[in-house]
Amino acid sequence: MGEGNPHSILLFIGEAPGAEEDEQGRPFVGKAGELLTKIIKAMGLERGEVYITNVLKCRPPGNRNPRPEEIKACWPFLEKQIEIIKPKLICTLGTFATQTLLGTQEKITFQRGVFKEWKGIRVLPTFHPAFLLRNPQYKRLAWEDIKKLMAEYQNLKSRNV
Ligand code: URA
Repeated sequence: MGEGNPHSILLFIGEAPGAEEDEQGRPFVGKAGELLTKIIKAMGLERGEVYITNVLKCRPPGNRNPRPEEIKACWPFLEKQIEIIKPKLICTLGTFATQTLLGTQEKITFQRGVFKEWKGIRVLPTFHPAFLLRNPQYKRLAWEDIKKLMAEYQNLKSRNV
């Protein structure tokens, strides 16, 4: 379902478990997870300080893209998780998480790095770590997004809202 600090003000939402995640029953523990952990560390945080989950709660066979009906079936679980964790800030990782949460159709390239709001929660879309592993030339842009995320995290923390 997810892991981390259920009281965190920061929630990361990915796409779906991969093979490694499926085996371990934990989100982001494969290669993409290693990069996400590095990103969190670069923010000056520990992985356990934030909460990490996915849109889909089961692995799509062969790592294919999530299907609309699968996203629809899993949405109530994600919505409930957000309701329970009550984050102040959400970072959506990649197209599927961003489109699912914000109800948009636009690709991540057009949505990344721009804060949005969902039910009063600040949302920052950025590239999916697996995409960054395949396209390292986008890491520079991702870092711009992460710096914004860090600043907003510090801002919300210091205001203790
Ligand atoms: N691992 C996850 O848990 N989620 C993803 O979206 C990709 C890899």
